[in-house]
Amino acid sequence: MTIRAAIYCRISQDRGGAGLGIARQEEDCRKLCERKGWEVVEVYTDNDVSAYSGAPRPAWQEMIRDVRDGQVNAVVCWHVDRLTRSPRELEDVIDLADRHGLELGTVSGEIDLATPTGRMIARMLGAAARHEAEHKAERQRRQRRQAAEAGKIAGGGKRPFGYEDDRITVRESEAEIIREGARRVLASESLASICRDWQKRGITTTAGIPWKPSALRRMLASARISGRREHTPRSSWETTRPLLGVIVADALWPGIISHEESDRLRALLSDPERRRRVEGSTRRSYLLSGILRCAKPREDGTPCGFGMVGRPRSGVPRYVCPNTPGTDACAGTATNAERTDAHVRDMILTALDSPAVRERLQRPDEEGSGLYEEIRADEEELEELARDFGSRKISRKEWMIARQSVEERLERNRAKLSKTSKATVLLDFVGTYEDMQERWEKLNDSQRRAIVTSVVRSIEVGPANPRKRWDPDRFIFDWIA
Ligand SMILES: [Zn+2]
Repeated sequence: MTIRAAIYCRISQDRGGAGLGIARQEEDCRKLCERKGWEVVEVYTDNDVSAYSGAPRPAWQEMIRDVRDGQVNAVVCWHVDRLTRSPRELEDVIDLADRHGLELGTVSGEIDLATPTGRMIARMLGAAARHEAEHKAERQRRQRRQAAEAGKIAGGGKRPFGYEDDRITVRESEAEIIREGARRVLASESLASICRDWQKRGITTTAGIPWKPSALRRMLASARISGRREHTPRSSWETTRPLLGVIVADALWPGIISHEESDRLRALLSDPERRRRVEGSTRRSYLLSGILRCAKPREDGTPCGFGMVGRPRSGVPRYVCPNTPGTDACAGTATNAERTDAHVRDMILTALDSPAVRERLQRPDEEGSGLYEEIRADEEELEELARDFGSRKISRKEWMIARQSVEERLERNRAKLSKTSKATVLLDFVGTYEDMQERWEKLNDSQRRAIVTSVVRSIEVGPANPRKRWDPDRFIFDWIA
């Protein structure tokens, strides 16, 4: 009877690939078949999936099927650890040897699965390979963790922005850019707006490409720029690396921004609400969309209350109460966008040009300190609760109840933090009316929106007065005291 052999090759990272490229594995296996007088009917190759990780191996599955169907009655591989690292899979192979008389050929020494000794050797080799893989994974995990705790430099890739190639010396020209970015984000400017500005100024990442909001977000949220080492256990990387790791130590390199600024940035940038509020607004070319509210009375006398949006008519920019099907917007109010923007600007600059406002801004804000620790702690608690629910330590009802109070506190603290952060925008902006007018002209929409929303909650727009072309009395400001 001719022996019809299948050659099984596998690439994986776990042996450093030393001498075990696919071509080499196949060549050695073919030589072995030649020596034994076996006919090679098929070569099965799995790419880049570790037999240990449990990832599906399509070629392996196919080969096992072919063995069961009797098309193949020998399997040849380089070493047992190429074949499989899962004891269960090895038992499958041994079982096939029993029932179908499957023969096994390995280049690195003969194993006869038909004999008890051969099986024992196969099992031992399999167990040793598995142990090696587990041990190595554990060692790597421990090394990463220890390096993190020692504040050591995380290796690999390009040098981080703000530091020289040694990853320790601060590159002052870039450090200045980081500080600027941090200031602007804390002042409620959107990441997209900062990236656009940097692109205009030719500021790129260390890879020489323009900054994207996602990259900027990651950099500014990193503990690295505050001279601290953070650690993200690999197991928590689901699809992408989480934005925040755990800060485990002071790093060997100096910080570019303070710990406090970094904590604030981390809290703000990980807040999903901010994303909607600040980043969502960059697509808006109308400064006041959503801030203006339609106040036209309905039939029952209550105001419409719908957020007005930008809709040009015959090329003239306007804010309108939208005619959106499925909503109860009245679609009965419109106002010229340019004149409205100018009016709102004047009202806001006038309000800001007052001793009371300046005094309020200069009052040291004690409320802000400690907020980010509380926010972070609450976020962790939420995660823990979710885990407890996931592992059935608590019931769904218990989870919902516990979650609610944490979420409420979290929301309050985030609102507070956003308010104190907004005060920082104003601090840089506020001055005499003329100064502010000059500064206003230089701001982009995102920055202007940050100013507007830091002083007014919303602006009601009453119905148009048919006798007046422009009527500033239509606008009622809901000031933030
Ligand atoms: Zn309306």
